[in-house]
Amino acid sequence: MTTEFFIEKLKAKGLKLTRQRLAIIEAFVAKAALHPSANFLYQEVKKKMKGISLSTVYFTLNELSRRGIIHTLDFDKMENRHEGNTEAHIHLICKQCKDIRDYHSLLFDTKNIEGKTGFRITETRFEYHGYCPHCRKDDHKGLRK
Ligand SMILES: [Zn+2]
Ligand SMILES: [Zn+2]
Repeated sequence: MTTEFFIEKLKAKGLKLTRQRLAIIEAFVAKAALHPSANFLYQEVKKKMKGISLSTVYFTLNELSRRGIIHTLDFDKMENRHEGNTEAHIHLICKQCKDIRDYHSLLFDTKNIEGKTGFRITETRFEYHGYCPHCRKDDHKGLRK
């Protein structure tokens, strides 16, 4: 995923490429693998663009998400996270550090499922919760649930 890829999508949806949007997209592309939250991206963008506000970052992410340019993951117990990978994949979510990684699997045979059932799939969400390699280091036998 490149900045150009998102700029093209933005234009295709009739959205203007403002300086702020560009800065947010650049930060997003650089950190996309982390599934960044608005707050996290705000901290990143602020390094280069002092005047940016958190609400601008929120608003822009919502806008991009509403237009299907990026994907927002809503959570009950933690901040919403965002990603550019709109293809079906599994999320490995660390309960300790809230790290979210993608895992690609051939399991998602959505075309086949649609063909068999006539159901049109517009969204998929698969999550495995547990502990990432970093956080499981201090894994005590059976203590963590
Ligand atoms: Zn972790
Ligand atoms: Zn993902």
